[in-house]
Amino acid sequence: MSDNKEKKSKSTNLYEVRHFLREKTRQDFGIYLDDVFGYLQDPWVARKTGEAGIKPFRIEWEPGLADGPTNSRLAVVDFNADTGLLVPPAKWDKKQYKFVGPKGEILDAKHSDLYQFHQVNAWAVVQSVLDMFEGPLALGRPIPWGTDGNRLILVPHAGFGENAFYDRRSKALQFYYYGDPASPKYTCLSHDIIVHETGHAILDGIRPYYFLFSSTETAAFHEFVADLSALLAALRNNYLRHVVSDQTQGDLSKDNFVSSLAEEFGAHLSGKAKGKPKEIVGGIAKLRDANNSLKMADIRDGDSPHRCSQVLTGAIYDLLKNIAKGYQGKVNQKFWWATERLIRMALQPLDFCPPVDVRFADYARALARNFELYEPLDSKRREAYAGFIKNIFLERGICDPDSLNAHSLPGEWDVYHDINAISGSRTGAYYFLNDNRKALHIPWNQDLLVSDLYMTNKYGRAGCRLPREVVLEYVWREEFKLDEDRFGPLKGQTAELLCGGTLVLDERGNVLSWQHKPGSQEKQDRDEGEKRLAQLRDHIANHVQDGLVGLRGESEVDILGPWTPPVVADTSSGALRLEIAPHLRDSRVRLGGGSAGLAGKSELDEWGDNKWTIKF
Ligand SMILES: [Zn+2]
Repeated sequence: MSDNKEKKSKSTNLYEVRHFLREKTRQDFGIYLDDVFGYLQDPWVARKTGEAGIKPFRIEWEPGLADGPTNSRLAVVDFNADTGLLVPPAKWDKKQYKFVGPKGEILDAKHSDLYQFHQVNAWAVVQSVLDMFEGPLALGRPIPWGTDGNRLILVPHAGFGENAFYDRRSKALQFYYYGDPASPKYTCLSHDIIVHETGHAILDGIRPYYFLFSSTETAAFHEFVADLSALLAALRNNYLRHVVSDQTQGDLSKDNFVSSLAEEFGAHLSGKAKGKPKEIVGGIAKLRDANNSLKMADIRDGDSPHRCSQVLTGAIYDLLKNIAKGYQGKVNQKFWWATERLIRMALQPLDFCPPVDVRFADYARALARNFELYEPLDSKRREAYAGFIKNIFLERGICDPDSLNAHSLPGEWDVYHDINAISGSRTGAYYFLNDNRKALHIPWNQDLLVSDLYMTNKYGRAGCRLPREVVLEYVWREEFKLDEDRFGPLKGQTAELLCGGTLVLDERGNVLSWQHKPGSQEKQDRDEGEKRLAQLRDHIANHVQDGLVGLRGESEVDILGPWTPPVVADTSSGALRLEIAPHLRDSRVRLGGGSAGLAGKSELDEWGDNKWTIKF
């Protein structure tokens, strides 16, 4: 056998058994690709701290790697919509088993100016985040994209603009560059920005209805998961954890590169706001900070989802601080230990969240329930952690202890179904739901959609396997008329209140968790349903009044650019659909004059204390 064939055969064998190998064995046997380099944070941090500069990433070899990079779940397409240029892709060198530049350059720190380095950087970061979410410490299952297809497109140099975003319609993560056009800064080189956008894409894959317009908290939850992903991905990196250990000496309440999000971007905006030509000096610049003390009471009606999200991000950062404090040992070990725990505690509960209209308190309950179920009863830390969980959500005004632990359970099943019949297919699951509508508070007159069905394979403490979960999500829609003047141009349209639930069963069919969002038609929880409906009506009216709703299909709003209204109304299918369009930061475009803004009001973009106007 030739060297190359033998290498491929060995790699394929390792690939087949990779899930059963320990980390040390994986490294020893060379399961990871050589010479995949990227910025641990971004060029600004790299200049400040060489230790946190460009380092190798651990990306597994897999069959079918190709130019781009392209692999099973991602494809880099470096097309610049401003210039119309398509940059040649990083090449997959079959002999060397690595990605190289156009002239065969190794894409390391020496060649970080090459656009092919940028391509590999973005690809490696996105792939490592997907690996984190699919891994057994987190969701323990393959994660679908929210797009139509299984390969997400990455566009590292999409055009000029101070932004980056995930766009479901173009099935892509779009990264822009900004600053001095002669030497621009690239969002595709910012670890936090890449991970943030990947977090949006992943959440859209597992909870696609969160993109439908329902409440500020739901939109903020998207931002929270995106920022939490950036925090966890940074902590998970061995090099960066070392740097942060030195930076904080174990005290995570000190300013550090992990709690600070998007440093280079923050430095740029901050410098701009202060009228300085370039960047701030001293301290750590940032777009947002997880190390904050914001409470729900600080959030005003009409605040942006980004600002609102910081309350929940701050709460989870508090949890991290508390976990780390409880470990006596070397700082770096302590941080690894806390990271591993936080990934389990914060990401696994995502599977318990309702399929629609999630609120911070739903997530808090999911986290508390997940902990209660899976923290071993003999764990020395069980009581202390339960206390932290209670306190962080109480102190931030997210959830009081009574409602935190109030796990609602369905009524008794009217008709028993075997768990294999339920988990075997969506239609099988539907028969089970339909036969048990009363227990699950589902109105008889509504058609019902099984929106997702999957099984998990998660790990708990010390790598022990948790019981396999069967997660069943279902949704129905309650229509209502926008019949008041306050709905402006949307008056007369029919809108929808999304209702549904997430039921988590164990392998025997016992209920582990149930979260549901009632409608106004079922008598068991009519009060709650009517409250939801009234809130949604107000929420729509407020956004129309504030000029934050743009119509899809009209003028510039049709194409998602770096600036787009936060809410997009789509009436193309006959019924009104309101979708949110989250970007890295808010882009409250000036909507006056044109047909884009429904109420014709102009709005200002907000970032911290700085305000400026963006025009198309
Ligand atoms: Zn975002």
